[in-house]
Amino acid sequence: MNPEILQTPIDYLKGVGPNRADLLRSELSIHTYQDLINFFPNRYIDKTHYYKINQLQRNSSEVQIIGKIIHLKTVEQNRGKRLVATFVDETGQMELVWFRGHKWIRESIKINEPYVIFGRTNWFNGLFNMPHPEMELLTDHERSLRTAMQPVYPSTEKLTSRGITNRVINKLMQQLFVETQSKFSETLSSSILNDLKLISKSSALFNIHFPKNQQLLAKAQYRLKFEELFYIQLQLITKNLIRKNKIKGFNFDQVGPLFNEFYKSYLPFELTNAQKKVIKEIRNDLGSNAQMNRLLQGDVGSGKTIVALMVMLLAIDNGFQACLMAPTEILAQQHYNGIYELVKKLDVNIQLLTGSTKTSERKEIHRQLESGELDILIGTHAILEDKVQFKNLGLAIIDEQHRFGVAQRSKLWHKNETPPHILVMTATPIPRTLAMSLYGDLDISVINELPPGRKPVKTVHRYDSNRLKVFRFIRDEIEKGRQVYIVYPLIQESEKMDYKDLMDGYASIEREFPKPKYQISIVHGQMKSADKDYEMERFVKGETQIMVATTVIEVGVNVPNASVMIIESAERFGLSQLHQLRGRVGRGADQSYCILMTSHKLSNDSKTRLETMVRTNDGFEIAEVDLKLRGPGDIMGTQQSGVLNLRIADIVKDNEILKTARYYAMKILKDDPSLSQPENRVLRHTYGLLAKHKNIWNYIS
Ligand code: ADP
Ligand code: MG
Repeated sequence: MNPEILQTPIDYLKGVGPNRADLLRSELSIHTYQDLINFFPNRYIDKTHYYKINQLQRNSSEVQIIGKIIHLKTVEQNRGKRLVATFVDETGQMELVWFRGHKWIRESIKINEPYVIFGRTNWFNGLFNMPHPEMELLTDHERSLRTAMQPVYPSTEKLTSRGITNRVINKLMQQLFVETQSKFSETLSSSILNDLKLISKSSALFNIHFPKNQQLLAKAQYRLKFEELFYIQLQLITKNLIRKNKIKGFNFDQVGPLFNEFYKSYLPFELTNAQKKVIKEIRNDLGSNAQMNRLLQGDVGSGKTIVALMVMLLAIDNGFQACLMAPTEILAQQHYNGIYELVKKLDVNIQLLTGSTKTSERKEIHRQLESGELDILIGTHAILEDKVQFKNLGLAIIDEQHRFGVAQRSKLWHKNETPPHILVMTATPIPRTLAMSLYGDLDISVINELPPGRKPVKTVHRYDSNRLKVFRFIRDEIEKGRQVYIVYPLIQESEKMDYKDLMDGYASIEREFPKPKYQISIVHGQMKSADKDYEMERFVKGETQIMVATTVIEVGVNVPNASVMIIESAERFGLSQLHQLRGRVGRGADQSYCILMTSHKLSNDSKTRLETMVRTNDGFEIAEVDLKLRGPGDIMGTQQSGVLNLRIADIVKDNEILKTARYYAMKILKDDPSLSQPENRVLRHTYGLLAKHKNIWNYIS
């Protein structure tokens, strides 16, 4: 059919006047025929079954019955009149009841004609009744497109109150199928259709709105979900390919003296296989003439820093500068200290730039960056300031991506004429399914192995009432020479109260662990950063045994001797936060512990979170649970959730379809990157439309 008809404004559809058109636009964003056809039901009422009156159960469920009205009467009541019809089939009788609209019903009802009625039944005075049933003459019912499974469309209060009921939408949909003759252009290639035994586009659209039965509905849903996910994947993978082909990157073809010398003489430990694999993947990218844009996922403690360092050495070997950006000052400082230690015997000039760098030092850093004397700059987002100019930035590494947005990534891109290679490191394990949808334009490497000798952290859940036992345990651990974190929640909205909790907690810990035997550090957001650093420093050096803190220590700090993590009010933390916090311990060879303290009052979600933490140390498993509890939009924050604005597929539930879609998108693009083979012409056509529109459902029909 002529695809242009789908662009017809909705006003032209028979049954849609100017008022309805306005409502459809404002309430449902339905502007055109196409928008309406892609307005999918969110559930279905199963009308495949007809009940007999003697089969009715007293469970008040929705049922559909064929029968006749044999009698109609008005019953006077204290509170008003009601209209009561006696409805019979060959097995028995019941009542239909109306409290409103009597006149209209009296006029339209046909006595002794077969009707199909639908609604909820009640049991009253020894008889079933159905208030305000949906009714249709059996003859109409049989002719109607709206056969078995009845769709229920999303709606709004305003729509219902203005008379655009589900039934009206349904009628409009029927009208649309009449006007378009139910023929829609196919948008998938025949090989995909055959391979996956998908039903045609026309059939899918028909059955999503007017499913004949459960089987056909399932087929329609599968086909449309696949299509939605397929085109998203096609788009993401194509973007990635284009970037690789078009965006020239610096070619790091040398493995030079620094990298080799470091590897031979200063690497403090044997790399894990996972680390080796990842470095190889990165080196492949760097030598491929294309700009690298890679996401490195690795659970807390998996050893991402050393990978970052070695890649930076490669950049320097090839005559470039590199930078490493961390989300907090403490973390930047720690990276700087750690990396400085590792490379101090090498000929590498490395500096730290943060918000608190003194002006004079800052000026000197700027100068050295511009002259090219400075090899590695480590810092916070201070690096992003326009004043910070590099002579030749070849590689930018971002640690803990979830703290930075896409905007920052792009700022780094533009520090040079040729964009630097970008490596984003994250310890927030993003479930693969989600990563595929969100970061389809990034390549992904995973460090899926912890350095050897680590004992998994033992995690337990304790109630506040057991606090004394917990204190005893802390004392024993400190006796063995270990250090302890005690973390309090700090949620922005209740900052004052949280701050008070923290201070009360601190006071009680000071009482339990008196000086001079015990030394306690405290770090929280209201402290000056110099003071924070001082307190951190004391803990890192082992001068204090206990670190009381808010979640500022959440990211990245590394104190291998700390082996106990106590999390207060653990029910108030999200799963990924809990996991990050737990990752602060278990970094040395000693057995480490994580104790989740809560009150007795716990919501179901909190219970699930705590149980998950106790059950597993696997960040990816935790992330999957988190995704299920919170939904995808929440996890990545709003700026990235646009991709997840799916019309019909569900990223969590339709995981398998997503995998299939990705597999096909990859396979097709691998054989035919420009989609120019005749076989793929239909994909290219649809994809071309896709580029023009934002909402993917505007182009796949
Ligand atoms: P993360 O991935 O969380 O950033 P880090 O890079 O901070 O982890 O590494 C955590 C700890 O593990 C550090 O003390 C680091 O020196 C150590 N480490 C990293 N890789 C190895 C390895 N291959 N063998 C032994 N220890 C390692
Ligand atoms: Mg780290």
